[in-house]
Amino acid sequence: MPETSPAAKSGRAPTAATAAAKGAVKSAATSPAQKALLKMGLRRDIDLALHLPLRYEDETRIVRLRDVREGEHAQIEAEVTSSEIVLRPRRQLVVTVDDGSDSCSLRFFTFYPAHQKTLTVGARVRVRGEVRGGFLGRQMLHPQVRAAGSPLPEALTPVYPTVAALPQGYIRKAVASGLNRADLRETLPNDAPDYAAQISSQNRLQHAWDLRKALSFLHHPSPDVALAALEDRSHPAWQRLKAEELLAQQLSQLQAKRERDRLRAPPLVARAKRGSKTLHDQLLAALPFQLTAAQQKVGREIAADLARQVPMNRLLQGDVGAGKTVVAALAAAICIDAGWQCALMAPTEILADQHFRKLVGWLEPLLAPSGKSVAWLTGGQKKKERDGMLARIASGEAALVVGTHAVIQERVVFQRLALALIDEQHRFGVAQRLALRDKMAATSQLEPHLLMMTATPIPRTLAMSYYADLDVSSIDELPPGRTPIVTKVVHDSRRDELVQRIKSQLGQGRQVYWVCPLIEESETLDLRNATETHATLCAELPGVLVGLLHSRMPAAEKKAQMAAFTEGLMGVLVSTTVIEVGVDVPNASLMVIEHAERFGLSQLHQLRGRVGRGAAASACVLLYSTGDAPRLGETARARLKAMAETNDGFEIARRDLEIRGPGEFLGARQSGAPLLRFADLETDGELLAWARELAPHMLDRHPRLAEQHVTRWLGEKLDYLLA
Ligand code: ADP
Ligand code: MG
Repeated sequence: MPETSPAAKSGRAPTAATAAAKGAVKSAATSPAQKALLKMGLRRDIDLALHLPLRYEDETRIVRLRDVREGEHAQIEAEVTSSEIVLRPRRQLVVTVDDGSDSCSLRFFTFYPAHQKTLTVGARVRVRGEVRGGFLGRQMLHPQVRAAGSPLPEALTPVYPTVAALPQGYIRKAVASGLNRADLRETLPNDAPDYAAQISSQNRLQHAWDLRKALSFLHHPSPDVALAALEDRSHPAWQRLKAEELLAQQLSQLQAKRERDRLRAPPLVARAKRGSKTLHDQLLAALPFQLTAAQQKVGREIAADLARQVPMNRLLQGDVGAGKTVVAALAAAICIDAGWQCALMAPTEILADQHFRKLVGWLEPLLAPSGKSVAWLTGGQKKKERDGMLARIASGEAALVVGTHAVIQERVVFQRLALALIDEQHRFGVAQRLALRDKMAATSQLEPHLLMMTATPIPRTLAMSYYADLDVSSIDELPPGRTPIVTKVVHDSRRDELVQRIKSQLGQGRQVYWVCPLIEESETLDLRNATETHATLCAELPGVLVGLLHSRMPAAEKKAQMAAFTEGLMGVLVSTTVIEVGVDVPNASLMVIEHAERFGLSQLHQLRGRVGRGAAASACVLLYSTGDAPRLGETARARLKAMAETNDGFEIARRDLEIRGPGEFLGARQSGAPLLRFADLETDGELLAWARELAPHMLDRHPRLAEQHVTRWLGEKLDYLLA
């Protein structure tokens, strides 16, 4: 079927579209088009009604050919003056039309008898398409053609986002009937503040735009509308839609928060035994340094949460190296003091191991007198060792359990888990967090307290809208004595200079990380690359111990490599991205990231944070290569530029959001929160503020309207959100 010819199509209206119009979408999907609709999430009438056009076509006007400029899309009505099939250079139907002001030829390389019939000499036709100039006079390639005379539509014609299996004509009908049937009753309460008042005065008319009117308009705008206002979504109809969407999001977040507030957790308060200090205070005294003011502040916030009967749901954010681990250890100490168990989960074995060593170093001597211990669980463990750990966890002897995902496996049974600490929370999916909570539910009616840590903070607007039920603590200063890291962006061709630089660092007794590129979907290539780099560096740096670390290595070997580096025996550590998080070697002063253009911004920032942990002046070199291209792509360039310009994790997060947009930003965090389709947090801050203000009022005073509103907007996605 020629896509370009509605004339041919309208002759045999697709029966499936008629079925859609009758509401068959909801019953068992049979046709490919119906399946495609469902696949696009267009299930309910309201989903269809909210499926907005990508753009519009103006079929409301007929223009004179003479007034059309070259390159313009136009609709004309004209008489067919000639029509013939030409065979050279290629078989085609060539038609000439004349509207009295000018003439124009139409060319069709695919055509059907229906075309020819419509385009017989003497017929009046309505033609729409792009008018091109040319040597042979004006012409239109594959214009849309139908017999002249039918009434002109009064509104612009919507063009919907769709897929191949779903022709435009079908989706238009489906959307139109969805819009007709959808329940669009007003859900904003009468006493709601006018959202129009929140935004600039020129849009004050907005209260007149209820949802039905807004949607009808956006699907079929009148031709005199300023298209710019539709495109930049500043039109009152758009504003109404965005306000509604933000309100739904705020309502659901607030609901989730209130539900969580009804849950109960064991209040955890450190109590000193007669004549001795609490574990918390002992740990504090044992630390080789003083806490920064920021660490003390967040420590108090966490302690206050732990003392409550409501489960803590807190995000601890602080730049790489800000000292989140100590804060977590202090929280663990409170929990253990109160007689409960604490779990610490990290995304990688190496990180878990690091935590383990640090925490053991700090806590084990303090736990020993009371007969308690630290247990660890990782994937690569031997069965016997593991069984021993499991027994200690089940008996409650292990007061602290450190590990990877292994901690939430079914076989792990805690005696009394009360606090879960999750490092680099964005690496964990919602499902895993839920599993952790279930660990506790198995043995009591209580929920564990949850503390998540991250080095890539969530920008404020995102926190406000996507993490409304999350409390946030920020460590906003680094421990004293750190020297800022100097970041250099260096082209591949200057690799030799870099090797000299490495030699000079090694000469000063420093150590170097060399991170190999991330090659998507190919661990084998990743590995080969790392192995090659390792071999080259070994040859270039005679007499220096150059190590290699990659994810395919057996756990014991990884540990050995890491240990050699940590102890300062190894000068250079070549690694795939396994070292990304948490590795802590203060003597390392140079971080080289090969093919830096392939890494994401927060990942680069994480990697960079592996140096600059001691007093030595540290540097990060971002080696990039453009491959066969003359220059780097725009986003890659923006990322490297951001890295060179700032060391501040908050600023990095902000730029990351700017470069990637919230969809991808949150996607990486697997937040589970539905994304905003219409509103844009950058530009719709006023509407967001309005929605935040209205949400609690609506839940308190108009719970039925609130429910209707949320169901309308979020429908089935709601379950996941409340999970
Ligand atoms: P991150 O926030 O990235 O997890 P860590 O907790 O690993 O940071 O801490 C980084 C390094 O700083 C560790 O070696 C840690 O022992 C040290 N550290 C933490 N707090 C302080 C402090 N207040 N003063 C000095 N060093 C600290
Ligand atoms: Mg850390």
